[in-house]
Amino acid sequence: MQYVYAFEEGSKEQKYVLGGKGANLAEMTNLGLPVPPGFTITTEACNAYMAHDRTLPDGLLDEVATRLADLETKMGKRLGADDDPLLVSVRSGAPFSMPGMMDTVLNLGLNDASVTGLAKQTNNERFAYDSYRRFVQMFGKIVLDIPAERFEAALEALRHARGVATDPELNAEDLAELVETFQGIVKDATQGEFPQEPHEQLRYAIEAVFQSWDGRRARDYRKLEGIPDDLGTAVNVQTMVFGNKGDDSGTGVAFTRDPATGEHRPYGDFLRDAQGEDVVAGIRTTEPLDAMATQFPDCHRQLLDTMQRLENHYRDMCDIEFTIEQGRLFMLQTRVGKRTAAAALRMAVDMQAEGLIDTREAVLRIQPAQLDQLLHPQFDPHAQYTPLATGLNASPGAAVGTVTFTADDAVARHELGEQVILVRPETSPDDLHGMIAAEGILTSRGGLVSHAAVVARGMGKPAVCGCAALDIDVHARQLHVGDTIVREGDLISINGTTGEVVLGAVPVITPEPTGPFDTILEWADGFRRLGVRTNADLPNDAIVARQFGAEGIGLCRTEHMFLGDRLPIVQRYILAANEAEEIAALDELEHLQRADFVGILEAMDGLPVTVRLLDPPLHEFLPDIEELLVQDARGELDDTGRRLLHAAQQWREANPMLGTRGVRLGILKPGLYRTQVRALFDAATERKLAGGDPHVEVMIPLAVNEPELALAISWVREVAEETATETYGAGGINYAVGTMVETPRAALVADEIARVAEFFSFGTNDLTQMTFGFSRDDIEGRFLPRYLELHLLPANPFETLDVDGVGKLVRMAVELGRATRPDLQLGICGEHGGDPASVAFCHEVGLDYVSCSPYRVPLARLAAAHAALAAAGPGSTA
Ligand code: ADP
Ligand code: MG
Ligand code: MG
Repeated sequence: MQYVYAFEEGSKEQKYVLGGKGANLAEMTNLGLPVPPGFTITTEACNAYMAHDRTLPDGLLDEVATRLADLETKMGKRLGADDDPLLVSVRSGAPFSMPGMMDTVLNLGLNDASVTGLAKQTNNERFAYDSYRRFVQMFGKIVLDIPAERFEAALEALRHARGVATDPELNAEDLAELVETFQGIVKDATQGEFPQEPHEQLRYAIEAVFQSWDGRRARDYRKLEGIPDDLGTAVNVQTMVFGNKGDDSGTGVAFTRDPATGEHRPYGDFLRDAQGEDVVAGIRTTEPLDAMATQFPDCHRQLLDTMQRLENHYRDMCDIEFTIEQGRLFMLQTRVGKRTAAAALRMAVDMQAEGLIDTREAVLRIQPAQLDQLLHPQFDPHAQYTPLATGLNASPGAAVGTVTFTADDAVARHELGEQVILVRPETSPDDLHGMIAAEGILTSRGGLVSHAAVVARGMGKPAVCGCAALDIDVHARQLHVGDTIVREGDLISINGTTGEVVLGAVPVITPEPTGPFDTILEWADGFRRLGVRTNADLPNDAIVARQFGAEGIGLCRTEHMFLGDRLPIVQRYILAANEAEEIAALDELEHLQRADFVGILEAMDGLPVTVRLLDPPLHEFLPDIEELLVQDARGELDDTGRRLLHAAQQWREANPMLGTRGVRLGILKPGLYRTQVRALFDAATERKLAGGDPHVEVMIPLAVNEPELALAISWVREVAEETATETYGAGGINYAVGTMVETPRAALVADEIARVAEFFSFGTNDLTQMTFGFSRDDIEGRFLPRYLELHLLPANPFETLDVDGVGKLVRMAVELGRATRPDLQLGICGEHGGDPASVAFCHEVGLDYVSCSPYRVPLARLAAAHAALAAAGPGSTA
């Protein structure tokens, strides 16, 4: 196996073997750009080194020696020779950029003898000693693992002693003295001399780069970014060029377009008389690229030309590192540059207009998840802050407000014009009014599909959930984090994109989705096959979703129509002593709900609206049983209170999520579903009479077999007929009736269920919960993180659809259902509808649409386009 390649031998396609840096150095070399010559040791060598207990693979050192000899011939110099030494840099470079994770050693080959040779050869003693002190410093830090502070402190002390502010003010003697000090530090730390032999230096440096792949920071970064651990890093050995040779030299970094805004103009920083990291270290003030035009007109022109060439060649924005040595430009690195989401959109649209890329590629250039950055306020990237605690990033965006501990307090403060954050151990449907009033939501318990998380995402509000470090005392209206006490009214900031919680106000910026945002999404619409609907319970959510391009409602929950000020009516219904009382309560509800439905149908006029009939267990509409018991013991309950207690006891269930809910409750209390359907069809009729175009889909939740579904559907059809007969005569309103497929059994007998259901909507939250037997509210704070850490699960199945298990059920239900009813409409309305990877699966199994929360609609549109393009294969236009 060949472990070492000269730059001339590689290309940009070989980043897995040569690393990103090595592959691009090879590409630039072969483009004829001025790249200092060198060679690359492959990632395979690194992996072999790791696999064999950190021993260099056989033959590697021989290969390095051969390549080094070639390089020496080419440059006419020998590594570290006394008279005129060849110096090299040793640079790490993994297949994926891992900024700041792996380090680089410059000026390797210098020692006590060759430094004088370099001084003589260049007639620049100061430069020679500056290079040498940098080498000892970097080698000490990176190869010998000596804390960087020790060198920095010595340098600082010298500057202080000489009464100067910056390094260029130190002279040759100062730097020679510094070299000695640095060597003293090395001796003190390692109990050995600084290695003088150049080949030994090289070998140590290569091994240090290999080892840095397994360093703590590198491993943490890979985990965070999902980069596999077995890729390994390459090592580049490259002839040094010098930006630290005086005022006619310098070094810089640049982007071919502005990486923050996407504006089409070169952007960069330049530092005179400097080497390597000086530019980014921030010790000295850099100059903008434009300033080079007057100082180095030729290099500046050549640099701009080169940047243009690179951009045309890579057909993308590139970032580059360059050095000018005594008026000569050298290219030291390039790669496709990182950018903000706003810049990515603008660049994609601009490059399409410039003819650099086609529409298809422009759409593929934007990652769906990037769009999230543009739809929500964010902490100002320049803000400095220390998080008080970190929880789960449950709903993206940032918010600042005063702490409130109850929904009522939140509403009260909000009404006084305050911006508030609702802080709760967890939330329940009772807290909805407080969540609406709040800028953001923070909970100490609950996971990514807890009530707080799901509702916050639905509302597009930031939320941090399951922040276990918060010790919340609602009654005392305060919380503790360690020794810190936060009281009601204190200012707090939360970042739902990262999960950070910060005491005090962090500056927040709100990005504006601009023209390119709409353009990319319109293009995406041209490629996608999947429809995109939204989960929306309220007219306002529907309006927002429609603006984001939703093509209907895939899930309109009706729980909220039974809560808030309706609760007493619902409780009267539950407590009803006879049928007359029941009917009276239901009539009242029907009247109120009719108005709810009118609002939603109006907001989605002309588009389908899937209304799910009541789903939660009845006890959710009763007061907390423990509280009632306490009040009863204190003798505080009145007659109604005692009846409520009785009902709560009667409806209490050991496992309510698997108990009397969904269609089961509907069958036990048939008046409920009839009432809802009547309210819905009356609303549709009202809309129609007002000139509207309502499309109603009635969805029965939690069915497990055909007979129960058939019974519930028969009521829907009866009510439909009554309504139609009352208003127009037969055939009045266009409607469909179907079910939510959310129990494993429903999926298994989908062929039977499809005999009566006209559509399926996969409720993948419950389906995941029941397929795994995971209680989603309980596992996320407990064993799930450990499972993910140990790779016992590839991902949180409530975030990304479990294709192997749950997906198999979905696929089976699709096939069985369509076999019975070829025109069966199929959609998904779980949280997964807004997850890009899950959207791809939905495309692949042939669903008709996905439905997700309003703020995820743009993301789903783009993900659906990506899925269609990926399925069509590369180079295809459809
Ligand atoms: P990173 O991956 O952290 O950017 P690099 O390997 O790119 O590390 O090295 C950092 C800097 O060191 C480069 O930007 C460049 O300024 C300098 N450098 C690296 N190799 C050379 C070289 N052969 N000649 C001159 N400077 C170099
Ligand atoms: Mg670099
Ligand atoms: Mg469900």
